[in-house]
Amino acid sequence: MAIENLRPSAYSDIELDAREGAIVESFFTEHQTAIPDPADWIGAPPLPGNILLTTVDKVINWSRHYSLWPVTFGLACCAIEMMCTAASRFDIARFGMEVFRASPRQADLMIIAGTLTWKMAPWLKRIYEQMPEPKWVLAMGACGTSGGIFKGSYSVVPGFNRVVPIDVYVPGCPPRPEALLQAIMEIHNKIEKMSPTRKAPGVL
Ligand code: SF4
Repeated sequence: MAIENLRPSAYSDIELDAREGAIVESFFTEHQTAIPDPADWIGAPPLPGNILLTTVDKVINWSRHYSLWPVTFGLACCAIEMMCTAASRFDIARFGMEVFRASPRQADLMIIAGTLTWKMAPWLKRIYEQMPEPKWVLAMGACGTSGGIFKGSYSVVPGFNRVVPIDVYVPGCPPRPEALLQAIMEIHNKIEKMSPTRKAPGVL
């Protein structure tokens, strides 16, 4: 019985050697000159083309505002909207904020989301004091502004500013994630206006 040639187009060893030799020969011929330095590809002199002039303040502020790490401080219903802001639909990772920290020592933004009771207030203050400078605080919701629907209650703090300094207030009960994002942009604006190199030592 005749053996069927299953690989009719296969090369013999000699043909294969010849083809590979031709490829190597052609590669060898084409690569006889050195490839130019990539800096020259853009057609500009290498050094001046890679220099940006700015101030130290602007560099510090730029890096700070794109690396805010919030400490988690969800207290009530507003925290659901805060969590939603961090999830994929609104995605605060776009602003360098995906790292919500459980430790205040690794955070520079406190988003207080919810109803603050007097029983909880000392611990909020303690967490705030444990955050390193510079730091910012965002009060989320009507409860944070004035006590909200619990204003006048014996147990609820009528505004977070009784306990810690607030940089930006977000109105609403609860505020939507877009409102929280807008407030974060306001924090960014505040950071942009800071002059870290010109303040007295310890004041940032
Ligand atoms: S402002 Fe409204 S939604 Fe937010 S914690 Fe207070 S009651 Fe809840």
